[in-house]
Amino acid sequence: MSDTPIPVLVSWGLGADSTAILTQFLDDPAGHGLTPDLSECTVIVALTGEEWPDTMDLAERHILPLLARRRVRLVQVARGGPSDTDGIVVLSDTRTPDRLHRRGPWALTDELGPTGTVPQFAAKRRLCSIKFKGWVMDQWAAAEYGAQAYRHVIGYEANEAGRAERDYTYASPTRRPWYPLIDWDWARPRILDHLLERFGVVWPKSYCTMCPYPVARASLNAHLARCRTFPELAAAVLRLESNAVALNPRSTLYRDGSLMGHIRADGNTAALDAYERDQAATDWAAYEVRRVFFAGRSDHCRTVHGTSCRRPGPWCRDPFRKGPAWRSVRTVHRGDRDAVLAHLEAEAAEMDAPTISVNGITRVPFHERGETYPGAEGYLVAAPAGVVDKARDGFDAMWDKVTSFGALDLIA
Ligand code: SF4
Ligand SMILES: [Zn+2]
Repeated sequence: MSDTPIPVLVSWGLGADSTAILTQFLDDPAGHGLTPDLSECTVIVALTGEEWPDTMDLAERHILPLLARRRVRLVQVARGGPSDTDGIVVLSDTRTPDRLHRRGPWALTDELGPTGTVPQFAAKRRLCSIKFKGWVMDQWAAAEYGAQAYRHVIGYEANEAGRAERDYTYASPTRRPWYPLIDWDWARPRILDHLLERFGVVWPKSYCTMCPYPVARASLNAHLARCRTFPELAAAVLRLESNAVALNPRSTLYRDGSLMGHIRADGNTAALDAYERDQAATDWAAYEVRRVFFAGRSDHCRTVHGTSCRRPGPWCRDPFRKGPAWRSVRTVHRGDRDAVLAHLEAEAAEMDAPTISVNGITRVPFHERGETYPGAEGYLVAAPAGVVDKARDGFDAMWDKVTSFGALDLIA
């Protein structure tokens, strides 16, 4: 039997949790069952390209020198592009790290800007985190370890057993998860105290500038303080949010409010001014946004046909229940802001439609949604340019069908 220790891969998110684990490992390897030189340990960072600069600076200043002194391997990885077939890029792989890359070839903004969206969540899963962090690290680990078993260290806190249990469902004969903070019974206060004592700083949360989570997790004040420290970054997120809202009024960053609302309430004029400067200087577009809404499944359908209904009968759809929606976005005019707003006015006059301005976003509705489904809505809206045209195959035919007679049995 070989004496070679099983490899240990430490997922370092740059935040307090995984940083506390790292410092514990570095300070006392043997106490954690590791070899004294930590030769089996690799620290991996997956870069979304959107981390707050203060977190990056602290990690660079306090942790990289420790890793370099102990010659612990640090790997920095990122997505190679929008598609999984673009693979991952190893930005750095060294035992003497002295800097953290700010971004890779494909950052989260590169994805959100052209689609006019903000980070999406589905079934409580953070899709961006899976795509820009989890998947990237998994690819690296698969290439590095192959069929060899490794211990995967993740910084779930003592009170995050639920997250650990969910993660544990992805354990395999090769990937063996290890949650040291849960083993040590370290919750947030203990972790922050440890880092404060060790480095003399209150370690900030690590997350993307446009992440909706800090507010959801009741860290609004700290988040707004960061927006005051980095007004230009806050302005860039405001732009992402306002483009998303232009294309879908329900797409505010937070379920119960917008970043714009919070920034205004906070009196962050530096961020608002930077946002306004950007809006005035950038190219604008008039977008045609159309949506088709299908009728949702009826109670009868769910009872009789179970979880999926491929061949709906006459009672399978409920005309008062909203089902799936399809969206088409198309740039129909470009220019500076004034020119695009003038174009909207001219279109409104031509179509005899109103011009509606809400929260600084101007729309010209040309097809209003009714009370029942299937239904359709369409409007022109002015917003900064950059959202790419997108519609699924068959959208135009479906639009024509729904706007001409609205057949109830249409399904997505
Ligand atoms: S920090 Fe937030 S926005 Fe960034 S990848 Fe994670 S969930 Fe998504
Ligand atoms: Zn059915």
